[in-house]
Amino acid sequence: MDIFYEIHKDLPREGPGDNASTRKALSYLKNLPKDAKILDIGCGPGMQTLELAKNLESTSCKIIALDNHEPFLKVVDEKAKKENLSEKIQTHYGSMFSLEFEDESFDCIWAEGSIYIIGFKRGIKEWKNFLKEGGYLVVSEISWLKFDVPEEAKEFWSTKYPVKQIYENLHDIKESGYEIIEHFTLPSESWRTDYYTPIENRITSLWDKYINDQEAMNVLYDTQQEINMFNKYSDYYGYVFYVMRVKN
Ligand code: SAM
Repeated sequence: MDIFYEIHKDLPREGPGDNASTRKALSYLKNLPKDAKILDIGCGPGMQTLELAKNLESTSCKIIALDNHEPFLKVVDEKAKKENLSEKIQTHYGSMFSLEFEDESFDCIWAEGSIYIIGFKRGIKEWKNFLKEGGYLVVSEISWLKFDVPEEAKEFWSTKYPVKQIYENLHDIKESGYEIIEHFTLPSESWRTDYYTPIENRITSLWDKYINDQEAMNVLYDTQQEINMFNKYSDYYGYVFYVMRVKN
């Protein structure tokens, strides 16, 4: 098995997040119709998909949970069945780079911890086509939380992802034709409880198995480094939820 999937297999979620923050972001969508059609992009194992389905009272709403990793879709289907939410949740294999839906198909697009894959600016621009007039886009994205970010943290992220200041992302949102509804920072615990802590436990359990495999050891080491970086600099960067709406 690919070492990456061995580290990530069966985690509660695949990125920072927590159910309370999902509910908080959802609470800002005041004009969502009862029969809302929601696209959850990069759903992973579906923690946010299930939480959305539980908190959307109307049984006529539909969440399309999309991912390009088939095993995650199977997990989401199983969880939905177990929680009696299959009527509301439909899984869909596909890529966020080439969404196969008609323009203006959705009342809301939701992407927790996944827009970084296509890039924040490109994602909010391209996905807008699939939103109805007045439709919502809700994304969470790693962002700098302070201006005086230490060099070590800047250098670490410079090789991985172009992390932006919150005001820069808000600027891109406005420029792309959205109204900003709200933004808020996720608590640092939402990186740990369902994401970094289970990964650290996994790393510990895989260390001995791969002691003689340099390539695998590099992956384990890099993953641990990312966690160490967050433990040291979580005051300076975090995940931020951005809630926006297509301007009428
Ligand atoms: N939203 C989930 C969560 O918060 O637990 C998962 C976030 S994880 C960081 C990113 C997800 O995007 C993974 O499930 C991955 O399989 C999926 N993904 C990666 N590339 C993709 C693509 N091109 N199209 C759709 N999904 C993709």
